[in-house]
Amino acid sequence: MRRTVHLVLLAFATVFLPPHPAETAEPTSAPLTCIFGAFDDELTPLYQAITGPKEEVLHGIHFAVGKLKGRNVIVCRSGIGKVNAAMVTALLVQHYRPSELIFCGIAGGINPDLHPGDIVIAAKTAQHDFGNLTAEGMEVRGTKSPMTWLRNPVFLEPDARLLAVAEAAGNRIKLADIETAKGKRHPRIIKGVVATGDIFVASPAKKAELRKALGADAVEMEGAAMAQVCRDLRVPWLVIRSISDSADHNALQDFDSFTALAAQNAAQLTIEIVAQLAARPAAERAGK
Ligand code: SAH
Repeated sequence: MRRTVHLVLLAFATVFLPPHPAETAEPTSAPLTCIFGAFDDELTPLYQAITGPKEEVLHGIHFAVGKLKGRNVIVCRSGIGKVNAAMVTALLVQHYRPSELIFCGIAGGINPDLHPGDIVIAAKTAQHDFGNLTAEGMEVRGTKSPMTWLRNPVFLEPDARLLAVAEAAGNRIKLADIETAKGKRHPRIIKGVVATGDIFVASPAKKAELRKALGADAVEMEGAAMAQVCRDLRVPWLVIRSISDSADHNALQDFDSFTALAAQNAAQLTIEIVAQLAARPAAERAGK
C-alpha cells in the first residue's frame, strides 16, 4: 500500500513538476566566477594571481574572495574526491550564486598522445565508477537526479558558450615549452573526455578500460561530481585539467614530478578564460 502511494506520488512529480526546482541559484548582478582546485598545489598559482583577496569561511571551508583580470572571483579548495567536490559545489552555489564554476586542476593522461603539461578542456565528463559491476566488467550508467528522479546522461557537457570561451582562451595563451629527455616540447591543448572517479588511477589495465569504455582522454577525481551538482542547480561549469602523470605504473612518481608544472598550465588557461569572460560585452553576459 505504502509502496503504491510512493509510486503514485513519484508519477505525479515526474509528470507535473518542472524538471528543476524553482529555488535554483540566480547569478548575482555582478558576474562572479568561482574557481575550484582539489588541493593546495593546484591552487597556488591562482592564489598568487588574485588581487585584494579576502578570506571567507563557510562551515570551516575557506574561500578566497577577490578580483582576477577585473572580474569578481572566488578561489576555493574543494578537497579530493567526488563527495568533497559535490559538497563544496552545493555550499558555494547556494551561498554565493556564481555565474559559473571552473574546476582548474591536474589529471592522469589516458589518451596516449597526451604528456605532462598538456591540457584537456572537458567537452564531456563522466563518473567512471558509477554503474553496475558484473562478471562481464563495469557498465557505467548515468546518475539519477535526486530532484527529478530522472536519469542523467553518462556524459555531462558544459555550456556551449563557456566551452567556446575556453577554446578561444586556449588559442590566446602561450604556454612555456617543456624540457624533456628528448628535447623541448610545446604543450598541447585539446577538447576531450574527462573521466572522474574516487580512485587515483595508477594501473595500465584501468587506464586501458577507461579509454575503451568511455573514450577518456584524462582521469581525475572531482570534475563530473561538480558538473552533476551544477546541472541540478543550473550553474554553467567547466573542467580544465592539465596532465600530471600517465595513470599507469609510473603515475605516483610522475605525479610528484609534474604536479607543479601541470597546475601552472591549468591555472594559466583558467586565468585567460576569466580574462575573456571579463572582456565580454554586458549584453552577451546577460545571454542576449
Ligand atoms: N597526494 C594526494 C593524492 C592526490 S589524488 C594525497 O596523498 O592525498 C590526485 C589528485 O589529482 C586528485 O584531486 C585528482 O583529481 C588528480 N589526479 C591526478 N592524477 C590522477 C590519476 N592518475 N588518477 C586520478 N586522479 C588524478
